[in-house]
Amino acid sequence: MLKFHSLKVAQVAPDAEDAVAITLEVPVELRDEYRGSAGQHVVVRVAIEGEEIRRTYSLVNAPGEWPLRIVPRVQAMGRMSRHLAEQLRPGDLLDVLPPNGSFTPRELSAAPGTYVAFAAGCGITPVLSVVRTLLARGAARVILFYGNSGTGRAMCLEELLGLKDRYLERLSLHFVMSREPQEVELYNGRLDASRVRQFAATLFLPKEVGEYFVCGPGDMIEQVTATLHELGVDSARVHAEHFTVATSLVGSRTFPLYLRAMRRADLADDPRFATAAARKAHFTALHHIVQTWILTFSDIGALDAQLDEAKIALGEVRSLKKLSEMEWAEYWGAVQEVSDRSGGTYRLPGRPWRFSREQLAPLGDPAFQGEHNRNVFGELGLSESEIDGYLASGALVSVALPATIADDAGRADGPAKVRRASLPTTIS
Ligand SMILES: Cc1cc2nc3c(=O)[nH]c(=O)nc-3n(C[C@H](O)[C@H](O)[C@H](O)COP(=O)(O)OP(=O)(O)OC[C@H]3O[C@@H](n4cnc5c(N)ncnc54)[C@H](O)[C@@H]3O)c2cc1C
Repeated sequence: MLKFHSLKVAQVAPDAEDAVAITLEVPVELRDEYRGSAGQHVVVRVAIEGEEIRRTYSLVNAPGEWPLRIVPRVQAMGRMSRHLAEQLRPGDLLDVLPPNGSFTPRELSAAPGTYVAFAAGCGITPVLSVVRTLLARGAARVILFYGNSGTGRAMCLEELLGLKDRYLERLSLHFVMSREPQEVELYNGRLDASRVRQFAATLFLPKEVGEYFVCGPGDMIEQVTATLHELGVDSARVHAEHFTVATSLVGSRTFPLYLRAMRRADLADDPRFATAAARKAHFTALHHIVQTWILTFSDIGALDAQLDEAKIALGEVRSLKKLSEMEWAEYWGAVQEVSDRSGGTYRLPGRPWRFSREQLAPLGDPAFQGEHNRNVFGELGLSESEIDGYLASGALVSVALPATIADDAGRADGPAKVRRASLPTTIS
């Protein structure tokens, strides 16, 4: 059974826009235990505010290369990744299990052949270890397709380019960017089914590739593996590594993960749960079993650790109010405080919900109901008299601004007149 050892942190260095490369020294007497195989991962254990947290990280080094290296992407609210990026210092000790996992090349001793890898985002980490190892062992050709939103987010880039320099003839790197325009159209977008088909039509012969390695978000893995299958590739030659998992209880890929987490292999033989359709039909019973198991835990950290081992994500359901008060919301500027134009403030969703680090201008003052009616309907082509008619009939709301606002803005007659002054000149 694998056992944790405390390894000394040699270096913590930034990698790409939001990842951190951590190197761990392994004493000579433990090296056999930590050698592992290409593409394997280690489990890291830390205590955060008195709670034990464990997470899995792929090794980017090839087996037998020292020190060990992991590259966690720093997640905005990620407990472990933020802890590693913000608290860990060279010289600290980190509890690490020896390497484990099955995302490893099978045919290392076979004749040199062609290998193809697809990686997206932080899925590059185990792929890098595999690619490095295959090249070092004499693979004739390794083709890597690496998808990211942009260059800034591409992890392990320097290492990849270093490998390319070293194995100029045998390594092909293809970068696909979803939000950074590339000159060649084929490289714009995501690593999805149609792109795999196009790559296969031009860059490799699907049936002649020795092994495939696929690591990235769940849907990317599904699309790439399904397309390879459709192109006639035997699934035994395709290795896939999931970092995160959709948590459907009935799905054929995810149901076994629940069995693993619950240590209930026996349920696989239960006819009520034999197929996805059967599990759907007996969902209440299945859900009850999982719920009962969950309730045996008095400590959410222990439940999280057991689910994480089986690659099932755990999350807390929060109210919108709680969500808006979280550090996450602050970090992303998801909620902003604005003036209520009467001396107070209130909080509104930020504009727009953003997914990059770009700084956006703060929100302006909110409008009162109906405040911009005249302006908007004027822009839509209604005349002043038509708008007046709608206001008189009550079809449009007319608003009287609080005196302080009207005074402040120098618009004592209220919004209707203010708006009239700013209407396009084409409206009489
Ligand atoms: C085999 C394997 C290998 C892996 N290798 C790597 C690797 O090489 N590099 C890597 O970066 N990762 C890797 N992972 C993923 C890694 O194990 C962790 O899952 C990842 O680092 C996130 O852990 P965390 O504790 O930082 O985030 P967690 O705290 O577990 O949070 C998970 C996600 O939920 C979000 N979140 C958490 N709480 C909230 C909240 N309250 N509101 C909104 N969002 C929230 C976080 O921002 C984060 O995106 C691997 C996983 C597996 C299974």
